[in-house]
Amino acid sequence: MARRTKIYEGKAKTLFEGPEPGTIVQYFKDDATAFNAEKKDVIEGKGVLNNMLSEYFMNGLTAIGVPNHFIKRLNMREQLVRACEIIPLEVIVRNTAAGSMSKRLGIEEGTALPRPIVEYCYKDDSLGDPLVSEEHIAAFGWASQQDMDDILSLALRVNDFMSGVMYGVGIKLVDFKIEIGRVYEGDFQRLIVADEISPDSCRLWDMETGQKLDKDVFRRDLGSLTDAYSEVAKRLGVMPKGATPMKPTLIN
Ligand code: UDP
Repeated sequence: MARRTKIYEGKAKTLFEGPEPGTIVQYFKDDATAFNAEKKDVIEGKGVLNNMLSEYFMNGLTAIGVPNHFIKRLNMREQLVRACEIIPLEVIVRNTAAGSMSKRLGIEEGTALPRPIVEYCYKDDSLGDPLVSEEHIAAFGWASQQDMDDILSLALRVNDFMSGVMYGVGIKLVDFKIEIGRVYEGDFQRLIVADEISPDSCRLWDMETGQKLDKDVFRRDLGSLTDAYSEVAKRLGVMPKGATPMKPTLIN
């Protein structure tokens, strides 16, 4: 196999140069990390599930006209995506209080929010991705006012889409994180949804039982992470026929 040029290795994914200029191969690893990588493990099959699920969500976004980086899935662990300049913000949308927001504001986990709340964190692991305001974003030039309008609109469209898809399979979308990339087309620039959308970056609760089907299973030691992600994949019809992500034969 030809050697590929690695562009970047993150906690859950590795990026390689793609076959055409302006493309990137995104490889989904089995590594799981939480609490700014203080907790780490390898969860066999997680990368396969996230690759398939992110493909499913990005294709859905494309179908309803929400621009995103996804081009096509290459194999069980890799997808071809459009290269973009990542805006250094984690864009979080919340429908129900949980996680850091519950801690910060003393709101009990599970409290329905009166409207979706969008938060921004500055992407810097050494600082622990601190929450920032639009004032910081403008003052430090991370994004312009026009960018922020576009980012808010993308985030709310993704929220409506993901909430609806999840509702259809009996799952509540509590919150999620997306990343936004900038692409250049001639003299114009455009913002698109990038990175991944998967149970690693969402909170998903079963509507009837409240069972957690997301990375909190790993963060809080609640059982098997692949069982949880497989349940999401099965309900959405994303899991390949007869496949269990644990089978190494699937990984090529
Ligand atoms: N999230 C993420 N990556 C991060 C931080 C948060 O994907 O680096 C997701 C997380 O899975 C959850 C949402 O963003 O769905 C809100 O996370 P929160 O701020 O509550 O932080 P946490 O409790 O995960 O530390």
